[in-house]
Amino acid sequence: MPSNELLTLHSDKCSECEYVRENIERFRSSCFGEAGAQVVYLELSHLTAQAWNWMLPHYLRFCISDEAKNESTLTAFFLYQFYPVQKLSQLISHKLFSLNMDQFLCLAHFLTWALNDPIRRDEDGEDIKDSITFLKELIQSRTT
Ligand SMILES: [Zn+2]
Repeated sequence: MPSNELLTLHSDKCSECEYVRENIERFRSSCFGEAGAQVVYLELSHLTAQAWNWMLPHYLRFCISDEAKNESTLTAFFLYQFYPVQKLSQLISHKLFSLNMDQFLCLAHFLTWALNDPIRRDEDGEDIKDSITFLKELIQSRTT
């Protein structure tokens, strides 16, 4: 987990960022899980690239856990970050630029998992498919 001042985009004088930093801080020593998702899900845009790198695997793990089944909003909000493609592309250039190919592949798997959810597929199927295609092309272009 990055040091406190590296967690959010604004360090001083932004009360929203201060709130986020204060609340994230406790996950330095305790399990992220649902409590962590509750803290960051509305604040994802405030997080720095370093904070995203730290948070991403924790949040992904939460989304596929049993405890997330009753908290579908937390998963839905997280998924919205990855589609449509334009949003995903911006996220990658601003926050996720340091992910390696295995991590991008993991993200593609996560979106494939979401596509297998009948509700998600009905609501956002085309967007999710486009994002998966985008990720796979990105992986392809960086590995050849
Ligand atoms: Zn701020």
